[in-house]
Order: sequence, then C-alpha cells, then structure tokens
Amino acid sequence: MPSVGPPQRPSLFVGGTWTSGSGGAVDVHNPFDGSVVATIDQAGPDDVIRAVAAARTAFDTGPWPTTPVAERAALLRRVAELLVRDKEEIARVETLDTGKTLKESRIDVDDVTAVFRYYADLADKEAGRIVDVGLAHVVSRVVPVPVGVCALITPWNYPLLQLSWKVAPCLAAGNTCVIKPSEVTPLTSIMLVHLLEEAGVPEGVVNLVLGDGPTVGAPLTEHDDVDMVSFTGGLATGQAIIRASATTVKRVAVELGGKNPNVVFADTPLDLAADWAITAAFLHSGQVCSAGARLIVEDALHDELVAEIARRAERIRLGNGLDPASECGPLVSAAQLAKIEDYVASALAEGARLVCGGRRPDDPALKDGFFYRPTVFADVTRDMRVVREETFGPILTVERFTTEDEAIALANDTHYGLAGAVWTADQARAHRVASALRHGTVWINDYHPYVPGAEWGGMGRSGNGRELGPTGLAEYQEHKHVWHNTAPEPAGWFEG
Ligand code: NDP
Repeated sequence: MPSVGPPQRPSLFVGGTWTSGSGGAVDVHNPFDGSVVATIDQAGPDDVIRAVAAARTAFDTGPWPTTPVAERAALLRRVAELLVRDKEEIARVETLDTGKTLKESRIDVDDVTAVFRYYADLADKEAGRIVDVGLAHVVSRVVPVPVGVCALITPWNYPLLQLSWKVAPCLAAGNTCVIKPSEVTPLTSIMLVHLLEEAGVPEGVVNLVLGDGPTVGAPLTEHDDVDMVSFTGGLATGQAIIRASATTVKRVAVELGGKNPNVVFADTPLDLAADWAITAAFLHSGQVCSAGARLIVEDALHDELVAEIARRAERIRLGNGLDPASECGPLVSAAQLAKIEDYVASALAEGARLVCGGRRPDDPALKDGFFYRPTVFADVTRDMRVVREETFGPILTVERFTTEDEAIALANDTHYGLAGAVWTADQARAHRVASALRHGTVWINDYHPYVPGAEWGGMGRSGNGRELGPTGLAEYQEHKHVWHNTAPEPAGWFEG
C-alpha cells in the first residue's frame, strides 16, 4: 500500500511488530507554523532493551546474516522501488517535518533511492578473496562477515538521507539494527521502516526506537549487546558516544560537523562566484554539515564579491517549503533559531561587520515559523567564534587572502575537515590547492555534489570512517581470515 499522510501510531518497530512505547506520545511540529504534523510514540529504556534483544536474536539465530547476498540485494532493490512509488508523499512529509523546500525533499528521496540501488549492486559483487600462501594443501580465504547488531543514530537536517547512508550498507552486509532518528524530525524514518517491512525484511532485523538522545540514544551506545554504533550528528554528541562505546569496545563510526572553506580566486567570474557562494552557504538555510560557511576570497575580488553576495542574499525568498515560490524554509526549531541569534550577537560583539541579514524577517506571514534572514559578516578574524564554530544556520563569514599559501592556511585553519571548495580558472592552481586541503571532500569549481559511489566523511574532528562508496559497506563488515589446512600433520613443536 502506498503511504498516504504522515505515519500513524503505533510508531515503534520492535521484533517485527509496530508497538507503542513506555515513553508516552509526543506531537511533531511543522517548523513553518508550529502546527502539529503527527503524533508519535516515544520509547522508554525498556523499549530500547526490547529492541536490542530483538536485533540480537535476529542476528544470532535468524536467517539474515547468512542469507545469500543476492537475496539481500533483492530486498534493497524492492525498497528502492517502493521509494519511487511513494516519492511524492515521503517528500511532502519530509518538508512538513524539516521545513526544507519540497524541491529539496524530492531530490533527497531520489538520492535515497540511488543509495539503496548502489548498495544492492555492490553487495551483489561482494566476494571474499583467496590469499595464495604458496602451499598446495592450504586454502586461505578472507571473507567479509557482518559486524552484528548496529545502532544507527541520525540527525535532523537530512533525516531520511542520513539514515539511508547507514541502513542500506548495514543490511547489505548482513547486520541487524536498531534505528534511533532525531526526536526533532522522525517522520520519514518511520515511513522508511514501513517500506522495509513491506519489502520483506525478516523479523527483528530492523528495529526502530523514537525519543531523545539521553533517554533512547545513550542506552544504545552503552548496551553490551550492541556491536557497532554508526552516528551522524554534532561534535559534542559524537565525543560522548565514543566515550560510551569504549566500555564494550564497540566499533564506532562518527560523521560530525564541519566548518567548511569555500576558497575563491580573483579569476573566477563574479556572477559565478556570488551564485555559488550563496548556494554553498544558504541551501537548506545553512543547516548542512558541508555548508560553505567560510568564504575565503582573494583581495582583488573581495569587495565586489561581498557586495554582490549581499545583494543576492537579501533577495532570497523565505517561506513555506510546500510553496514552490520559496527558496529557503525556516530553521528546524526554536533552539536552532536561538543558537543562530546567539552567534550573530557574538560576531557583532567581537567586531565583525554585518553586511546583510542579522535579523528575523519582517514578513508577518512568517511570524509563526523559525525564520532567520541569510546573514553575511565581513572583516572577520580567525579567532572569532562565528568563524571557528559550526553555526549550522544561515550565516556566512568572509575572509580575504593575498597569496595562494595564505588561502590554503586559512582553509585548513579549523579543527574540522569535512568539505571545502576552490574556485579558479587556473587548473594547475586548482589541483595544487585541492591537494593541500585537509578535508574529506574537495570540490573544484563546484559545491555540494556527491554520489553514492564516492566516499563521504571527514578528517580531524569531522569524524572517522566513511559513508558511501565501497568503504561505506566495509564499515559494516568484519574481514575474517579462514585458513584451511586440507592435509593436516602433527605440528612436532613439543616432544609430547
Ligand atoms: P546531535 O548531535 O544533537 O544529535 C544527533 C543524534 O544523536 C540525534 O538523534 C540525537 O537525539 C542523538 N543523541 C543526542 N545525545 C545522544 C547521546 N548522549 N547518545 C546517543 N545519541 C544521542 O546533532 P543534530 O541532530 O543537532 O544534527 C546536527 C549535527 O549533525 C551538525 O553538527 C551537523 O554538522 C551534523 N551532521 C553531520 C553530517 C556529516 O555527514 N558529517 C551530516 C549531517 C549532519 P535527539 O536529537 O533526538 O535528542
């Protein structure tokens, strides 16, 4: 049955059954106007224990880990088909839940579909390898095997997309899982679990618990029976998860924040530079881990570019994500809005020059939403909070440079290392700078594109490990060495 409307209760999925939780029920609100989009169940600690037990049993005794990869791949392909069938409704709910524009939500669903297809194809090709040890009586094989029970913990900005990067390779590799989406935007994760059920995922292989981080996420990271935690979210939470996972030496993959440099040399056409500077910084109101929040511009272009960016930023149309005329939706929550207002106040107090924005919009039609005008600060210095910390909102800071070395030093002057870009007509320089950037993804004369086949992840405090690509599958595998001596003889080591 195609999904119609936001998901209904019961909304936890444990051991193959939809169930309500012991944590009561909560309303999920539309950040555009505060209206209630859905009411969902919340898990309590006992539900987390039940979900882990179901995943453990499904892993230890169920068919999934030993199901032939071709069958696991077929299930992922069925999920992709169901995503195509339900695209419009899932995209609409994603917009109601996150506030992002429908155009972007549709792209997200297409990307999610592509991720399921990619891992279906990759799983099909997965094979162990024979290591030739040069002994005729020995067969030495390295075989990929699943890690076990995986806790998949996701953020609110790309709820469905981030979940797909985890759940598709996790299942392709033969693991079982407990999913914990952000309490702020849980709806499309619930919808995806319905599709996984419809596609025929065996009982207990996928479990879903809803609720906040301390109540539901933390117990997952501490649980003895969870073998791996894959987390995407903020730095402080990632650090807490790494600490919590240490007790049972879980495998931990963390995708954290970014403070991403967008380096523009003066030989870049003004229109192109301005267009991409605002796209890099203000897409999804800047609530993007790889947002180009630090614009680093060569002196000769600086003043002209800042003026052009301000002109364009002031024209960005804020509005309801469902309205095709809107270019940006609201921020996701009151807490996120308060955080942005605090960063703007701190930038002003530290002496940054406000070029545009720096306020909520005047439009009365937007008064009930968490809207904030795209904001640009110039004359910033590297020690300012707004330059060093991830604001995760519509704030762009502009720094200037004179030499190529200076540009590289500025771009690498961050604890993070998720993504960055360089713009120049000089191809040799583009490659020199791209090689020197300590960031997990580097775009040359572009910003934001990614593909399922290419690894995504950060250096430094942007995280460890990689999602997407073959490495994104390997995250969910152990590589086991099986040595088979086909003609055993006494060792003769001890006299006996
Ligand atoms: P948070 O770190 O606040 O939360 C992420 C998830 O972790 C949520 O589901 C949250 O639950 C949960 N959580 C919170 N505390 C704990 C805990 N102690 N133990 C286990 N789980 C916990 O991040 P946000 O949701 O605010 O997302 C924004 C962040 O995500 C940004 O820093 C952004 O850069 C990063 N991000 C990184 C990406 C990447 O690819 N590197 C991609 C997308 C986002 P709840 O919120 O329900 O309380």
